Amino acid sequence: LEFSNCKFNPKLQDNLTSAGYETPTPVQMQALPAALKGRDVLVSADTGSGKTLAFLLPIISKSCMIRMWHLSERAHPLAIVLAPTRELAAQVEEQAKALAKGLPFKTALVVGGDAMPQQIYRIKNGVELIVGTPGRLIDLLSKHDVSLEDVCMLVLDEVDCMLERGFRDQVMQIVQALYQPQIMLFSATIPPAIESFAATILKQPLLISA
Ligand code: AMP
Repeated sequence: LEFSNCKFNPKLQDNLTSAGYETPTPVQMQALPAALKGRDVLVSADTGSGKTLAFLLPIISKSCMIRMWHLSERAHPLAIVLAPTRELAAQVEEQAKALAKGLPFKTALVVGGDAMPQQIYRIKNGVELIVGTPGRLIDLLSKHDVSLEDVCMLVLDEVDCMLERGFRDQVMQIVQALYQPQIMLFSATIPPAIESFAATILKQPLLISA
């Protein structure tokens, strides 16, 4: 697989090329075709494998298509990436912004500690992607400050850390607030606890390890 086989928006392909990404990593080679087709994936991959692009590229590509075809007039978010820490969420959002430069694709970082009014303001102005930690997103949801009705893609990054930090119930609450989303689940390892968690939320996932 080459990035050029993925039929990305030309601008997205340009951004990839100018960032120096020439060939997909093994995780990307396996995950991109499935994720672009809308399939759920369960990926065992560590930091350094290129896992972030494996979920950001499908999110950016599909979101831009949805916006261009005006499948959703309102600018409610289309995708959510949940991470176990604020730092990881911030890094993912930075990568998303860089990859989507020049595209109709806006992001909001929704994490504890940052001022909530700014996060709400950004979301109300219209974003395609929310990147955040589970707790703060639940806060916004319960105060009706965010509508998740158009969200069609959900990524759970570093799920092993997320479960260790006790986010299971909050993650489930977010999953249940969505209507039949495509779910991409990433974890460094897939022990039985992660496997059973994955089985409760994924639909016929493609299993990927690299
Ligand atoms: P990650 O596993 O997502 O934390 O990514 C690890 C590093 O690999 C990051 O610095 C990325 O910029 C880089 N990277 C991701 N995909 C590629 C690729 N296809 N070619 C070269 N570097 C990449």
